[in-house]
Amino acid sequence: RKNIGILTSGGDAQGMNPCVRAVVRMAIARNCRPFFIYEGYQGLVDGGAKIKEAKWTDVSGFLALGGTMIGTARCKAFRELEGRRTGVLNLIRNGIDALVVIGGDGSLTGADRLRAEWPEHVLALEQAGLITREKAEKYRTLMIVGMVGSIDNDLASTDMTIGACSALERICESVDAILSTAMSHQRAFVVEVMGRHCGWLALNAAISTGADYLFIPEAPPSKDDWEASMCKTLKASRDAGKRTSLVIIAEGAIDCNLNPIKAEYIKDILSTRLGYDTRVTILGHVQRGGAPAHFDRFLGTMQGAEAIEVILRAKPDTPSPVIGMLENKITTQPLKEAIELTGQVAQAIEAKDFARAITLRSSAFSK
Ligand code: ATP
Repeated sequence: RKNIGILTSGGDAQGMNPCVRAVVRMAIARNCRPFFIYEGYQGLVDGGAKIKEAKWTDVSGFLALGGTMIGTARCKAFRELEGRRTGVLNLIRNGIDALVVIGGDGSLTGADRLRAEWPEHVLALEQAGLITREKAEKYRTLMIVGMVGSIDNDLASTDMTIGACSALERICESVDAILSTAMSHQRAFVVEVMGRHCGWLALNAAISTGADYLFIPEAPPSKDDWEASMCKTLKASRDAGKRTSLVIIAEGAIDCNLNPIKAEYIKDILSTRLGYDTRVTILGHVQRGGAPAHFDRFLGTMQGAEAIEVILRAKPDTPSPVIGMLENKITTQPLKEAIELTGQVAQAIEAKDFARAITLRSSAFSK
């Protein structure tokens, strides 16, 4: 009978709660004991009341709730070896022998470090007299299962991350609202969307709202004088009778020299070169708020259930996996590989190999 800890970490994302619900209920259904670890890795480091057994009814109503009901945090202490060692001690003290982490690439990188260092931590805790030899024997390995909860859809090795679909819906609703006022006044709007260093949200929002121009980190404007080319495109639309101009910009947008492109800069160009009455809207946290869309409820539930099956199937030497979705199928892949692959995206962008960055992002993105 396994004791399974579950935590959510990094930025919150719609669909984390359905995922937590599925982990808790599937664990109970499969005769395991689930434990909430509140406030992400901070709860792991703090221990005490932040680790508590979860009951079936504790997750009632979670499907429709945005954010994460068990809390999340950016935890500095967990980045340090000492912090992770305290986390290991708290897991062992609570008898937890498997850990489910729902978070972004940073959280999963932390999980991968914990996995790699685990035997070393256990040995050090035994040598320090903080755990007995029997405990050290019993907890020789820890199974960690990762799931990607992130609105950014920025992890290689999965087509969709939990939360990305809901954030995209919210962006589309917001841009639709902006467009109706823009049209009345014949205004231009520059809308900045989230995504950190990933352009998935911006790209999909641009397609779904009919934007005139788009800036994403994986495909920076190639010409030096891209400003003139953008103005030409926007003017052609206006000349053809369009009453608005819409530019979508990812928060991590860059030019071909890897310098950031900012929404205010675009606004200045449209105002001065084209004379358009231009406004900037930075959508901000509204993108990650509110109830999860159907797809994130579904994805979180399917992946959460699969996490328990993976834990129960695992042998002591099974590498810790990340659960994803490729071509509409729930997949499990080694966590280490997924993290390495994601790291290669940043390297490809730095090397200005943008085609490779797009291919690495995910198969959904490259299509
Ligand atoms: P989002 O994509 O929404 O920002 P994220 O999981 O990438 O989510 P981060 O702030 O990067 O968010 O990471 C969350 C937490 O994971 C950190 O506060 C830290 O506790 C832990 N973490 C991140 N990177 C590492 C690392 N390299 N080593 C150990 N722990 C890490």
